[in-house]
Amino acid sequence: MITKELLWRIRNELPMKLTIQRLGNFGPIAKQSDGYFRFQCPNCKELRATVNPSNNLAHCFCCKENYNNIDLMMIQGYDFLPAVGILEKWLMEYSRELGRRTPSSHSAGE
Ligand SMILES: [Zn+2]
Repeated sequence: MITKELLWRIRNELPMKLTIQRLGNFGPIAKQSDGYFRFQCPNCKELRATVNPSNNLAHCFCCKENYNNIDLMMIQGYDFLPAVGILEKWLMEYSRELGRRTPSSHSAGE
């Protein structure tokens, strides 16, 4: 079932970098530069869509378009429901991965 909370988590908690890496050859060309993750803007084709780490949204500094994870999947040709299904799976894998790295919810001393 798709809840508002799930959609929020997909947009906010699943790093766009990870989504693009998972898309691999199907996804846009991407690079890490100046500490930012950038990818080729699907709209203007400039490599200036930049992920903002504070809100996990990509903004293109060329055409001003904004993208989230779901937008990105739909641009690759997925319909909304399959896109959410795939992103949910990646989000769960990502959460498990994070859980392994920080076994305790208390991160004292970090
Ligand atoms: Zn653009």
